[in-house]
Amino acid sequence: MDIALVSRDGKKITEPGGQDSPLAIRGLTVSYGEKPAVFSVDMTVEAGKMTAIIGPNGAGKSTLLKAALGVVPAVSGRVQVFGKPIARQRGRIAYVPQRASVDWDFPTRVIDVVLMGLYREVGLLGRLRGRHVKQAEACLDRVGMKDFAHRQIGQLSGGQQQRVFLARALAQGADLYVLDEPFAGVDAATEKAIIDVLKALRAEGKTVVVVHHDLATVAGYFDNVFLINTRKVAEGTVAEAFTADTLHDAYGGRLATAQIAQVAG
Ligand code: ADP
Ligand code: MG
Repeated sequence: MDIALVSRDGKKITEPGGQDSPLAIRGLTVSYGEKPAVFSVDMTVEAGKMTAIIGPNGAGKSTLLKAALGVVPAVSGRVQVFGKPIARQRGRIAYVPQRASVDWDFPTRVIDVVLMGLYREVGLLGRLRGRHVKQAEACLDRVGMKDFAHRQIGQLSGGQQQRVFLARALAQGADLYVLDEPFAGVDAATEKAIIDVLKALRAEGKTVVVVHHDLATVAGYFDNVFLINTRKVAEGTVAEAFTADTLHDAYGGRLATAQIAQVAG
């Protein structure tokens, strides 16, 4: 992938073809304490592709996304979503955070979780109508969860919950889908259901960014990779950036050479 350009006015970030990147990050540094969790990271997500964010535990993958989306504050850096500040582009992004960050003590039906994805369309004081419920049901159908619409979300398995969160993201009708470890701890059927939906989104021209932990499936699932270990290690197509060298750089001694040889060239 070509390096993106910052135009002469120093503001607008575009890809070489002049297209606005769905997510362009420049010089992003994030710190929870003294040591930065993400340091001076540049990232340019390519439109219409599936990109994996990869790196060891604690590498700053979740932090990178949270700061880019304004969920946690950054020390410094710039972020553009389709060429504009994120504040004006919220409706174009659907974000599925890492699971287990929500405790569903409060009784909430699956259909209501998905309807939350439609709140922009419904409006804060607007009235839910039959067509909204139909839309939400269609999104549940896409992830194979239509029969669970009236169950309590807290009673579902982790994999089923993950599908419901994807359905909520679908309901948002976004152009950029950002998912943090959607495959972590899910069953094989759920993994298949989720990857099929993500590939269908790509076929519709949507952009998908996924924090991904399973190195064995990178080449089969993704077009591009972004390797991080606090700093950016590599960025590009799977062939360019997912290699034995870049994996050594990102993981250090945490991955055996034999493991690396199995997944990367
Ligand atoms: P990853 O998603 O790659 O596993 P994270 O972004 O979750 O990594 O974390 C990066 C670093 O920041 C880790 O050292 C982690 O312990 C630390 N960290 C993450 N969230 C917080 C937080 N809310 N408060 C303090 N430190 C945090
Ligand atoms: Mg994480």
